[in-house]
Amino acid sequence: MPTLISVILHTPAHSNMAGALTYLSDQPLCPGTLVRVPLGQRELLGVVWDDPPHSVPIAIDPARLRMIAAALDAIPPLTPAWRALIDFAANYYQRSTGEVALAALPPQLRDLNTLQLSRRLGKHATDSADVQPSSASNDSDLIALTTEQARAIGQFHTYDGPCLLFGATGSGKTEVFMRCTSELLAGSEHAQALVMVPEINLTPQLEERFKNRFCPHYGQSAVVSMHSGMAPAQRLKSWLAAHSGSARIVLGTRMAVFAAMPHLQLIIVDEEHDPSYKSHEGARYSARDLAIYRGRLEGARVMLGSATPSLESWYHSRPAAEGGRYLRIEMPSRVGASLSAQGGLPLVRRVDMNHQPKACVISPPLLQAITERIARSEQCMVFLNRRGYAPVLQCTDCDWKSECPHCSAYRVFHKIDRTLRCHHCGFTERVPRTCPTCGNLDIATVGRGTERLEEHLEQLLSEVKRPDGNPVCMVRIDADTTKLKGSLESQLARVHSGEVDVLVGTQMIAKGHDFRRITLVAAINPDSALFSSDFRAPERLFSLLMQAAGRAGRDASNTHRSEMWVQTFHPTHPLFESLKRHDYPAFAKSQLVERQTAGMPPFSFQALVRAEARTQETAQAFLNAASQASAQMPNAALLLKHITLYSAVPMSIQRIANIERAQMLIESHSRTALQRFLNIWQTVLRTTRSEPQCKGLIRWAVDVDPLLI
Ligand code: ADP
Ligand code: ZN
Ligand code: ZN
Repeated sequence: MPTLISVILHTPAHSNMAGALTYLSDQPLCPGTLVRVPLGQRELLGVVWDDPPHSVPIAIDPARLRMIAAALDAIPPLTPAWRALIDFAANYYQRSTGEVALAALPPQLRDLNTLQLSRRLGKHATDSADVQPSSASNDSDLIALTTEQARAIGQFHTYDGPCLLFGATGSGKTEVFMRCTSELLAGSEHAQALVMVPEINLTPQLEERFKNRFCPHYGQSAVVSMHSGMAPAQRLKSWLAAHSGSARIVLGTRMAVFAAMPHLQLIIVDEEHDPSYKSHEGARYSARDLAIYRGRLEGARVMLGSATPSLESWYHSRPAAEGGRYLRIEMPSRVGASLSAQGGLPLVRRVDMNHQPKACVISPPLLQAITERIARSEQCMVFLNRRGYAPVLQCTDCDWKSECPHCSAYRVFHKIDRTLRCHHCGFTERVPRTCPTCGNLDIATVGRGTERLEEHLEQLLSEVKRPDGNPVCMVRIDADTTKLKGSLESQLARVHSGEVDVLVGTQMIAKGHDFRRITLVAAINPDSALFSSDFRAPERLFSLLMQAAGRAGRDASNTHRSEMWVQTFHPTHPLFESLKRHDYPAFAKSQLVERQTAGMPPFSFQALVRAEARTQETAQAFLNAASQASAQMPNAALLLKHITLYSAVPMSIQRIANIERAQMLIESHSRTALQRFLNIWQTVLRTTRSEPQCKGLIRWAVDVDPLLI
């Protein structure tokens, strides 16, 4: 006699199948079991979710119930804690459970048929049987901890809740992470640790450090990676290793927060302030916030680390007496820094661009400084947050500009292949010979990107020689030069080997990399973020500049003090004053005061609804109609008392690929109130969609705790 089971599938969030579906099975299956089930003509991967329903739900005709196709019971069921995490994430970020759960599983689980999968599982079992862990980890043969590191680890053990390791760049945070992991693994036979980094590019470096440290003790498969750049087969392998418990350490990007790890006891979030932890498609989750939640759910310790924490985490780590819930642990000095000024951090020099030759890109004193560094065989890094050659082309006669016909944005001029490329929709054309509007031959570039900066620097440094008499060697690293697989690695290797004198690039080069020989870092034009309408822009700029400064002088044996140069028209701006003193706490304090006065996060909670439609009117009409309809929701008066719904406005880039975009901000002083509102309002959004004035609406999505407004 078959039994009923309820199964979640990857069904669209806004469909009416968003909940669990009921199927029949020959045998009872415990929640968390992976199954294959028929849906229409297709067969899909699903997960048995809740306890079996006692009876067929009223809405379903019992005669139409279908049998599951297969139970993948060679894979242990997903744990209750994992399912609770998925349930929470789906509910909090306003998506369906099935969507979040299935997106958190490796794609090959969906794609392989049962036979292929059982072969894979057999292979996995033999692979992990190979593991011959030697003696347990023994830290006594390792480098001695610095006083600050030892104290940090001590503090970590004094507190059960989340910790924020606030450590300067180069203060040895990674070593602290590895020690905490090592203690955990040595102390418990099965314990697992999850270590997250913001960018795929940073995983190889970290993976190498962790593998070198842990594989000799725990076997080759003890450390696995998990990120979207991996081949599907590799990803499945890592996932199975984590889920079976044979992997003791999982290193990954934001998606790894959902890794199935039955013995998870420690979660580390490195560079916790990094915006990459926030997903910008599907469920727009924050992996950092979910890490905190997961830690509580599983009784695992959580350690966030950063030299420039997010203001949210900074605020949560205020003294407990003032309501802080995280323990703040400080490591202000760089490893190996003698008692030199500011713990061995670089000297920050501001160049007042108001007093430099007009239209100069690299100011004379900066050029002089770069030249001197090259003469001493030191490396320089120059960054600019814009790729391509020039952000706009313009006719010198009429008012033609290189607008994208499909977006409300300019197409960027790329000199290397003489194209105009839209960085939003990808639309690419050869540069016109003459102005498309008036036929003028004279088309001028406006502004500059990294490609032009590199060209300009090459000219400026053409007469300069390295100590060995050779010309200056320059390399550019940005999204354009690193498209090919392996090209980033090979370019970085050239920097590390010392072959390169000057590294030019976008913010890509400013983060995380452990460059040992760079002693000068320069930000060419960071001013725009100072006056952005996005209230988080200063926070992002400050952390980017601090991170960039952190790339300079990581080798304390350099005799000349390293420098961070900032070219700005606003040298006395408080942000640069704090930067000069490497004073994140002062910067955070002033920002928090501003945010509190303005009632911004972390003093309020926000959600955005974004709508896309053929016309801007439709997109806005949908949002405004849903906003008005909220007054008719059950308990509306009570709910809306704590909620502010703003009017719909066009998004900052209003049109991409001929689709108009609008957004609406929702704010509350209470997270709970906002959640309660959003949960009920989902239905309103769904019904509003079918109203006549919303014809032409393409899609909408809710973004809870949005980072970009
Ligand atoms: P962070 O992550 O804080 O920027 P890292 O962990 O990368 O810093 O450490 C910076 C450098 O210092 C690394 O090269 C690391 O190997 C080295 N280091 C860390 N801890 C120690 C220590 N206790 N003794 C000597 N060198 C150390
Ligand atoms: Zn013209
Ligand atoms: Zn475009």
